[in-house]
Amino acid sequence: MLNLILMGLPGAGKGTQAERIVDTYHIPHISTGDMFRSAIEKQTTLGIKAKSYMDQGALVPDEITNGIVKERLAETDTKVGFLLDGFPRTLGQAQALESILKELHKSIDAVIDIHVEESVLIERLAGRFICRTCGATYHKVNHLPKVEGTCDRCGGHEFYQREDDKPETVKNRLSVNIESSAPILAFYENQSLLKKIDGNRDIENVFQDVKGIVDIKK
Ligand code: ADP
Ligand code: ADP
Ligand code: ZN
Repeated sequence: MLNLILMGLPGAGKGTQAERIVDTYHIPHISTGDMFRSAIEKQTTLGIKAKSYMDQGALVPDEITNGIVKERLAETDTKVGFLLDGFPRTLGQAQALESILKELHKSIDAVIDIHVEESVLIERLAGRFICRTCGATYHKVNHLPKVEGTCDRCGGHEFYQREDDKPETVKNRLSVNIESSAPILAFYENQSLLKKIDGNRDIENVFQDVKGIVDIKK
């Protein structure tokens, strides 16, 4: 069992590293952002509620977010472990997660915080694009598919840019997340679970650091 949390501001590289982590360690990837986007696409009640917050770069309220994570963690595929990406994002969510895990007789092995400075984040989000088929993440300058127009991971040919990656929304997302993440980092630091890595290096170098942390927890 390998239970991990991936933290980092928007654009830090959580999704990019998550792809590599789940492909290497075969644990389910639980991304609250992906869950909300898929709910919006399917126009479910959850999607309709989440959309108004996401469009503004605001956080979806804790009671909604905690509810979907609780349901997801109760599914049987988490027996082998899980990678939480983008959750918790508030201290309230971190506390809710504690009680969810307690109920399920699970605990966290490590919290990996990918650190990147703000000016770099803005440029990363502006150039981000995503494979419509498998969700793999690319960048117009930093990380193009090996064959132009073809996803490295699934061979897909359709890509999209996220609605909330436009500059007006990005600023708000960053400030909201900077404020809300500080107490969570302290919370996990106190439990000696926090592992910080420098995210402003090549994707592969960052992944080597991730592996160094995960391999001793396995
Ligand atoms: P990024 O890390 O690039 O900002 P995410 O896909 O994790 O992207 O999140 C996109 C949006 O989804 C957030 O701006 C927020 O509106 C919503 N969201 C995702 N995770 C959470 C969460 N844990 N709590 C509240 N809102 C969330
Ligand atoms: P997050 O999920 O934390 O919001 P992403 O994984 O989506 O971040 O990465 C944001 C953007 O930055 C994407 O366009 C991605 O291709 C690019 N990126 C990710 N990691 C790196 C890196 N180490 N160096 C340069 N660009 C990166
Ligand atoms: Zn793909």
